[in-house]
Amino acid sequence: MIKVDKGKCIGCGLCVSMCPDVFEMDDDLKAKVISQKNNPSVKEAVGSCPVEAITL
Ligand code: SF4
Repeated sequence: MIKVDKGKCIGCGLCVSMCPDVFEMDDDLKAKVISQKNNPSVKEAVGSCPVEAITL
């Protein structure tokens, strides 16, 4: 399951720009998961998140 730890997320927006099908910025300016549709760009976003807030 794709998850964002909001306690860790710094709201950089990287995952949203890499994979807009799965991530969206929430009203609190943290990323949220909008779809569990896994694809290669999700894995890339996991590796690119500067604070390792995304888990699979
Ligand atoms: S890449 Fe990480 S820190 Fe940046 S918005 Fe996404 S979850 Fe938050």
